[in-house]
Amino acid sequence: IQVPIEAPIVKNEIDPSKPMIALTFDDGPSKNDYEIVAKLKEYNARATFYVLGKNVGNKEDIINTILDSGCEIGGHSWDHTSLVKLSGNALTNQFTSVRDVVKSASNNGYEIKTFRPPYGAVNEVVKGASPFPLIMWDIDTLDWKTRNAKKTVDHVLKNVKDGSIILMHDIHSESKDAAIELIPILVEKGYQLVTISELMEAKNIQMQNGVLY
Ligand code: ZN
Repeated sequence: IQVPIEAPIVKNEIDPSKPMIALTFDDGPSKNDYEIVAKLKEYNARATFYVLGKNVGNKEDIINTILDSGCEIGGHSWDHTSLVKLSGNALTNQFTSVRDVVKSASNNGYEIKTFRPPYGAVNEVVKGASPFPLIMWDIDTLDWKTRNAKKTVDHVLKNVKDGSIILMHDIHSESKDAAIELIPILVEKGYQLVTISELMEAKNIQMQNGVLY
């Protein structure tokens, strides 16, 4: 695969008439995010990081590095419990605890805007309890299973299309390697790499709490 030597100049603004995709990274924050964010910045690109509340702990610097780059942080529950097993306060806490810990870790009181349910598992109770829009994906790289950067890259390039939401996991170094390889290729192919919120706005989708996207 040919990777361009020089980063193409990309406008900061999003052109809704041109193709765009959202890379999403689940289960962090992770030290791998430094490299992913650096590569995104190099290409004036952005992604969304769906973090676990329990992993935010002493990773304030990673949280702020992500946010300072213009990337988005979303919630992915406190501890990756399948939400369909929960109800009442236990369910509510999986949404609010990650929101609160990200807010306090961030320098500017950042409020997460979207949420990805662990395993993509939802039911009517979960939807009803969610204070956030629920973000799924259309490209599941299965990177956690293959742990193979080339397979992840090939899977994305074979399936990517305008509007794709791509699921990857930044906690694995192979997935980080795949992202580093993919970012220039996707930009070269003409895709704008945008956050989930930017994608929805550009596609004129008004997200609502408890609704799947
Ligand atoms: Zn996950």
